[in-house]
Amino acid sequence: MTKLRLIATEEAFATPRQVEAFRRAADTLWHDPDLDMWRSFLSIPRRIAQLVDLEEERLADMDANGVDMHLLSLTAPGVQLFSAAEATAIAADANDILAETVRRHPTRFAGLATFAPQDPARAAQEIERAINTLGLHGLVINSHTDSEYLDAPKFRPIFEAAASCGAALYIHPRNLPLEAAKFLKAEINLWGAIWGFQMETGLHAMRLIVSGLFDEFPGLKIVLGHMGEGLPYWLYRIDYMYRAFTRGQGKLKRRPSDYVRDNFLVTTSGMNDHATLDFCHRVLGPDNVMFAIDYPYQGSKEAVEFIRSSTLPPADLAKIAHGNAERVFRIKPAV
Ligand code: MN
Repeated sequence: MTKLRLIATEEAFATPRQVEAFRRAADTLWHDPDLDMWRSFLSIPRRIAQLVDLEEERLADMDANGVDMHLLSLTAPGVQLFSAAEATAIAADANDILAETVRRHPTRFAGLATFAPQDPARAAQEIERAINTLGLHGLVINSHTDSEYLDAPKFRPIFEAAASCGAALYIHPRNLPLEAAKFLKAEINLWGAIWGFQMETGLHAMRLIVSGLFDEFPGLKIVLGHMGEGLPYWLYRIDYMYRAFTRGQGKLKRRPSDYVRDNFLVTTSGMNDHATLDFCHRVLGPDNVMFAIDYPYQGSKEAVEFIRSSTLPPADLAKIAHGNAERVFRIKPAV
């Protein structure tokens, strides 16, 4: 089989300063679903080591599995639990580390810049620094911040900066705000990746769509992991109900599904399922799906075997495996 160039687009890392900030927060009585998730990470030294490592076990894992590149992003919930000042400082440090890592291994790593939405004006400055000065490849946000979503007008400077830099924004999951997350305690805990992440991130995407954001920023690109957090499956009903709920008088210039097709891309992170890949390929088209692993939370071997065994047309598979990521994140194609 010919080698399929693989750029994995949702690959997590942590910085020492971020880990220290979570350690301090974990020692308090503060109750938050993401902090509880971090309390469990912090109890597993190997998990923390895998996240902080950028060049040893990670590169060996990539080599062993034939993964050409990781598009790195600071692991969830990024800096979004911390005070504005601390979050801004940890984000800038993480972006510096990322840029240095990319500089050392330009053919193996690309990076999504982190910013602190707690201070939208400062976040806009950091976005411009990270993209225009550091040369990072896009942006990442971990869904809500203090129960607020990016459709709120106060966050407009973030989209203005993203649009002026031409940077795509990856909306990575985090847990629902505490007041909503409490309803996910069932026979087992449905927080996190089993169900809560997709509820939270799909909601965030829907909020952006109905806010009219994409009429204001028609070139903006949003990336969703996990084959689109349910959105591609739901398009018919979203359009039908948007029309019904607004009596055909909604303020959007186009159908909600038109924005999903034109302004969103989805990745295969953590969803090694051919039926779902074929469905997303059919609904969104071959230009709007990208390969991802979700390292180190899910295994590289399984994700690579999955994408290599796809029966999609080879030209489309090449786009999904690397071509779309090169275009959207301005990653240099292989020579
Ligand atoms: Mn992830």
